[in-house]
Amino acid sequence: MSDTKNKDAIPGQLDTLKRFLNTVDLDGGSDELDSPQALGRWLADVGLLDPASEVSRYDAARAVEVREAFRDVIFANTCHTEPDAAALATLSAAGSAARYRVSFHPHEGPQLEACAEGVEGALARLVAIMAQAMLDGSWGRFKACRRDGCRWAFFDWTKNQSGVWCSMAACGNREKARRYQARKRAGGSGSTTV
Ligand SMILES: [Zn+2]
Repeated sequence: MSDTKNKDAIPGQLDTLKRFLNTVDLDGGSDELDSPQALGRWLADVGLLDPASEVSRYDAARAVEVREAFRDVIFANTCHTEPDAAALATLSAAGSAARYRVSFHPHEGPQLEACAEGVEGALARLVAIMAQAMLDGSWGRFKACRRDGCRWAFFDWTKNQSGVWCSMAACGNREKARRYQARKRAGGSGSTTV
């Protein structure tokens, strides 16, 4: 389940957000953010948090809530629908304590930076990445797999942004086979049209 083929083309910050979303394997049930210590380690490893920061149980629950709100929003990219209002409200709230500032650099566009510290600041930095990607147009390619139970975050490099699976081998063919079997059970023709 990866899109390593075009990995180099992924904007660096958006790749961090993708890694954050993929800290949970919904299929396998493992979650890299399943404790305050694990969350602190993960955020420090990607440079979003000072390793000496305190991380509470509340922070860990909040991080998972924010992660799943991101997933809801990028799933709307997969389906080409409006993002869920409640998920957007969760992300707005995560950014509200950030004390954002805009900074300018010679060879890049304006950067939105969160000044808040701790986990609150780290989550706000992830929200800022989303805002920046929406502004630079890369956001629409950031999607969650359409297969129920997968929802893996991936970048869709298809020309017309029509990709819906994290990987055709892992999920596309599996979902097609499942539908084929369901149709067969229902007495349908068994056509493989999706
Ligand atoms: Zn998938």
